[in-house]
Amino acid sequence: MTDTPPTRVAIVTGASRGIGAAIAVALANQGRHVVLVSRSQEKLDAVKGQIEAQGGAASTLACDVSDQAALTEAIDKVASDHKRLDILVNNAGITRDNLMLRMTDEEFDEVILTNLRGVFVACRAALRPMMRGKWGRIINIGSVSGLVGNAGQANYATAKSGLLGLTKSIAKEMAAKNITANVVAPGFIETDMTDVLPQQVKDMAAAATPLRRFGKPEEIAAAVAYLASEQAGYTTGQVLTVDGGMTMC
Ligand code: NAP
Repeated sequence: MTDTPPTRVAIVTGASRGIGAAIAVALANQGRHVVLVSRSQEKLDAVKGQIEAQGGAASTLACDVSDQAALTEAIDKVASDHKRLDILVNNAGITRDNLMLRMTDEEFDEVILTNLRGVFVACRAALRPMMRGKWGRIINIGSVSGLVGNAGQANYATAKSGLLGLTKSIAKEMAAKNITANVVAPGFIETDMTDVLPQQVKDMAAAATPLRRFGKPEEIAAAVAYLASEQAGYTTGQVLTVDGGMTMC
């Protein structure tokens, strides 16, 4: 008789919609128990319902990732309730776009707190349970803005490029513990975040993309699902850009 391996537990932040919801569905389809995190309980419940309707397993945890104490407590709770934590996908993110000369301290700080410090705090809390399990996968959602910069996004590009240094440092510190850390950097993806862009900006973005279209959340989720898989154990400290070819050189 062979033992069935235990179900791996994954946390996905920003799982209430868009890319995060698609990642949660993809990980559930891989047989993971997915803990959905965002600020909106109702929307998380809807994604949980979708996963369960497809035969997957999910639970929800309402939490603001810019609240350091609440985020640490939430991750500790998941690890303690499930007695394990295997996969962490830091996907929650916001934009507060403004040109550099007009950008306020608040616009800068808000984006850094959510998109960068929140990721640091979540990774730090997740590492101990991953070390106990002698296995871990951290996937941080970056952006092409963090690779090449973007006018009007000094705050966002700073946070997203900060994720590269954070992720590579974690990859080096944790390699001996069988924990990998990677970044997925999307280009323009069809979600609420890009829906608000003026049509002219959308047209210019699509025109600057060799594949001539925006990506779909599921196309980012597929990259994350690979990096979260058992088979991706030799891939760490990498940035997987999924941008329709926009930033290829
Ligand atoms: P979205 O549709 O605006 O969704 C953002 C998600 O983040 C929502 O689930 C939101 O949930 C959650 N969130 C925001 N602030 C939060 C906070 N303080 N605490 C907890 N959850 C929070 O965005 P998206 O397009 O799916 O983007 C997902 C990730 O991909 C982001 O990191 C974004 O920077 C990155 N990205 C997106 C694109 C793109 O073109 N869409 C391109 C490159 C990178 P609640 O509102 O329910 O809290």
